[in-house]
Amino acid sequence: MSEEASSPALPERPIGRAIRHGARLKCPNCGIGPLYRGYLKSVEYCASCTEELYHHRADDAPPYFTILIVGHIIMPGILLVEKALKPDLWIHAAIWIPLTIILSLSILPVTKGALIGLQWALRMHGYDPNFVEDIYPTAQNG
Ligand SMILES: [Zn+2]
Repeated sequence: MSEEASSPALPERPIGRAIRHGARLKCPNCGIGPLYRGYLKSVEYCASCTEELYHHRADDAPPYFTILIVGHIIMPGILLVEKALKPDLWIHAAIWIPLTIILSLSILPVTKGALIGLQWALRMHGYDPNFVEDIYPTAQNG
């Protein structure tokens, strides 16, 4: 029987389930408590299971994945509509600019929630009980 050296006694956290819960804007642990207390501001603790949720470091990844997803929806749409209907440019602008904004604002909380779920499941950053914040150099190493 093998043991992982980094987390021998920690319970398993299913990655797919945590990502699904996060993408539904729910706590990655229980899937019941809300993940956000605002549009993108995550809660400190789950209201249902008291799991710590403030350790995430989603940073620039949610906007990156949002742009990736929205771009793969909008660009084929623009090309297909142009090829099929050849509308005036103002019609393109009237359709695709609002759609891009609406899709981006709708998908961003989902990608951030999924990434919080992934980080929680992988015990990244402060989700790992053995994690030591190493922002400032200490006398020993610097
Ligand atoms: Zn919870």
